[in-house]
Amino acid sequence: MPDLRNHIVTRRHITPKTFESELAAFKGSAFSVAPKLTQSAYFRPSNEDSGIPGLYLVGAGTHPGAGLPGVLNSAKATVDLILSNYQ
Ligand SMILES: Cc1cc2nc3c(=O)[nH]c(=O)nc-3n(C[C@H](O)[C@H](O)[C@H](O)COP(=O)(O)OP(=O)(O)OC[C@H]3O[C@@H](n4cnc5c(N)ncnc54)[C@H](O)[C@@H]3O)c2cc1C
Repeated sequence: MPDLRNHIVTRRHITPKTFESELAAFKGSAFSVAPKLTQSAYFRPSNEDSGIPGLYLVGAGTHPGAGLPGVLNSAKATVDLILSNYQ
């Protein structure tokens, strides 16, 4: 596309600042706690708080991790945990 730069009419940049201001993402993180090996799957924060009985955690920052499949599985793991604790 020759001379593209001179034909740009509108520009929109999306950065972590955008995630922070528009998506209420903490510190603009797209995947919550960084999904590196030592913070992934079973190394991620548990779905059950260790200090406050009855407090359950769900979402990208908890086990098993970020991304839509991870978040849906986090919800499933949390429901299973609640059911096993109250049955
Ligand atoms: C640009 C981008 C592209 C992505 N692409 C993909 C992709 O292709 N595939 C994929 O699987 N994943 C993708 N992800 C990751 C995926 O979107 C997230 O992992 C997932 O949405 C996290 O879901 P969640 O429910 O944990 O958090 P969120 O979806 O962030 O939901 C948290 C909600 O809480 C609200 N909230 C925050 N603070 C407060 C407060 N104090 N009071 C009340 N409400 C509050 C927020 O407004 C938000 O609605 C992408 C993320 C980004 C940013």
